[in-house]
Amino acid sequence: MSRPAVAEIKLDSIRANFQLARSLAPNGKTIAVVKADAYGHGAAEVARYLADDVEVFAVACIEEALALRAAGLRHPILLLEGFFEADELDVISREGLWTAIHSQTQLDALARSSIPHPLPVWLKVDTGMHRLGFSPEQATKAYGDLSRMRQVSAVTVMTHLANADNDETQGITVANQISRLPSSLLKPEIELSLANSAGILAHKVARKHWQRPGIMLYGASPLAKENQYSEALRPSMTLKSRIIATKWVAPGDSVGYGGRFVAERSIRIGTVAMGYADGYPRQAIDGVPVLVNGKRTRLIGRVSMDMLTVDLTDIPEAGPDSEVEFWGDNLLANEVASYCDTIAYHLFTGVTKRVPRKYVG
Ligand SMILES: *Cc1c(COP(=O)(O)O)cnc(C)c1O
Repeated sequence: MSRPAVAEIKLDSIRANFQLARSLAPNGKTIAVVKADAYGHGAAEVARYLADDVEVFAVACIEEALALRAAGLRHPILLLEGFFEADELDVISREGLWTAIHSQTQLDALARSSIPHPLPVWLKVDTGMHRLGFSPEQATKAYGDLSRMRQVSAVTVMTHLANADNDETQGITVANQISRLPSSLLKPEIELSLANSAGILAHKVARKHWQRPGIMLYGASPLAKENQYSEALRPSMTLKSRIIATKWVAPGDSVGYGGRFVAERSIRIGTVAMGYADGYPRQAIDGVPVLVNGKRTRLIGRVSMDMLTVDLTDIPEAGPDSEVEFWGDNLLANEVASYCDTIAYHLFTGVTKRVPRKYVG
């Protein structure tokens, strides 16, 4: 009695992926990154499920952290971009949040604040990503200033890796980025955090005191070339819907907006309740794999807002109500993304509110 589009979320797979991340850095600590609504999986549900396994969560901003507090989570929560306005500091202190400090503006605002309890902060150093962070030259002074500040209880040093997913990168390498960290910050007593998922999966040198896995928790590998660990990841989201109509299309006739797909022979089409307003990418080309009743076939025609069309010619048993899987256990989001000029991160975070999440496990 309802629209059949659904994102099925396997919470036990997320837990298994977290345990894999932790096992790769057994001497360090592993944070669970649940920003962007846990990459589209539902941050409150994911964090509650992982509550006993995870010591610290990370999100992008205070709004996301407060949503976790509202869901009952009492863990420390790291704000990966820190605060945007100085008046967030009172809330950060009161709610037991941890903040990144990536700029002199943030550092100065913290120094001026009169927060009641000192905070753990994460000093972000820019070793080549060139997005956020103190330059290596500025970082030593920033570390010293923060260490002495009465508003600060502990300083962790963090940097973000630009190309940990690709060993054949034209850009800066992991080793290069690590070599840019000032030696003053490479003392045993200073805790370091370098690794995102790609760092954890593929770069032993990046596994330090704190790991920050995101995408790998959700079962998608960020690596350009898979390895034994990335292949062990378990997909945690299956995006599904059902066929709502079928029809035959004659040779020469087209399907969908713009007539992008033209039938060369008589073909049987299935129209599915799934469109770009659900988060299925509109840039999908003809031929993107989809599964109908578990059998691989292809998307044809432009994706519409609420519907898309698939080729059923070779799946005669499929008809109205047949199940269609867009990505999940049997069709990796990474493969679909490769046809859509995007990445699994974008597919997961793009699934819209219209699609109910159904939790299993
Ligand atoms: C999002 C984010 C991560 C997680 O990255 P993945 O590639 O999803 O593992 C780690 N660190 C920072 C600073 C981030 O913003």
